Amino acid sequence: MDSWLAELRWAAGLFEGEGSVATQRCLVAVGMTDKDSVDRFHAAVGFGHSGVQEKRPPYKRLYLWRAESYEHTQALAALLWWGLGIRRRAQFAQILNKAKLAPVRASLRTVCPNGHKYDRTLQRRTGPKAGAINRYCSLCANQHRKKYGRYDGLVSDD
Ligand SMILES: [Zn+2]
Repeated sequence: MDSWLAELRWAAGLFEGEGSVATQRCLVAVGMTDKDSVDRFHAAVGFGHSGVQEKRPPYKRLYLWRAESYEHTQALAALLWWGLGIRRRAQFAQILNKAKLAPVRASLRTVCPNGHKYDRTLQRRTGPKAGAINRYCSLCANQHRKKYGRYDGLVSDD
């Protein structure tokens, strides 16, 4: 446990210098020319993805660690928090607040915009998203149908 805490403190120091927090969405990354450090960071935090970005000479190839989701950004902030400076903490607070205020991703929603549980799935037949599976709420769809006629462009797959 002691050594893991030490690793996290080291990781926080690395993130202070080499890390980045995106400003528009939950994406955190570390990019370095030193593969060992990126691997060690990855092992310390225990999640995310590592990869390589090839560069044109004379630039060295860049080793990257990244994680992309609200949960992972929040987890990274928590793991590294005590080793982070004011500027980094503010970046995490800002992006997490922004994400918290944003609508929940469609794929994670369990209720329709009017608060009913989604109870059916539909496959889109036309349009740019043809073939996509959508969940839908039959209560709202029935109301829509009464008001406007056929539910536009969608067909039930059951
Ligand atoms: Zn509904």
